[in-house]
Amino acid sequence: MQNNYNINQRKMAYKYFKYPSRYAVLTDEPIACEICKKKQICLDATAFYSKDEIEAICENCLKAGRLPEIEACSNDADVEELFDQLIHLHPNKKRETLLQEAKAKTDELEFRTPPLVSWQDWKFPALDGDYAQFVCFGSKHEYNKYAPDGDGKAFFEKWLLDDLREFTNFENLWRAVPENRIRTVSQSNDFSLLTYLFKSLHSEQYVIVWDLM
Ligand SMILES: [Zn+2]
Repeated sequence: MQNNYNINQRKMAYKYFKYPSRYAVLTDEPIACEICKKKQICLDATAFYSKDEIEAICENCLKAGRLPEIEACSNDADVEELFDQLIHLHPNKKRETLLQEAKAKTDELEFRTPPLVSWQDWKFPALDGDYAQFVCFGSKHEYNKYAPDGDGKAFFEKWLLDDLREFTNFENLWRAVPENRIRTVSQSNDFSLLTYLFKSLHSEQYVIVWDLM
């Protein structure tokens, strides 16, 4: 069982989810996958979006893009923002081509990427005409590390999602950001405020989202 678990962990690699072995939620014990029915360690499916309640989805089914078979998806993509960015970046490309590109990226995120654990409903952000990659739950330690000049507070303020600014008392928010690294998804349960760090797959741009229990 321990071995299987480790094999499972090594298999995991996703374009939009950098550290699934830390931040994806797996079932504690083997359980039948909702799609293929094989009993194994699966992704805990309580965070998935689905018509019926689902318990577990195995990684093979997730990677094979089989979620539409049970009318489920794993993330809620900010597809409007993505499309705006694509139009802005490629003003001369045909709309049809851009729609196809947006659909391919959205399918990858919504059908073949583990879900983010969050309390509120918010959309998975886009950057540079693609979805951003979820790197980690934020902490002062991480923001200081990612800031080119080591100033995590300035980094945090710079990259905070624009849509959140009007709801944000920045000083209070920064004080509430955990000091130390949140290394696993279970450690994230210790906090009533979480911040999520996303990085562009194409440049040194980031986006930070906060979420409150
Ligand atoms: Zn399966």
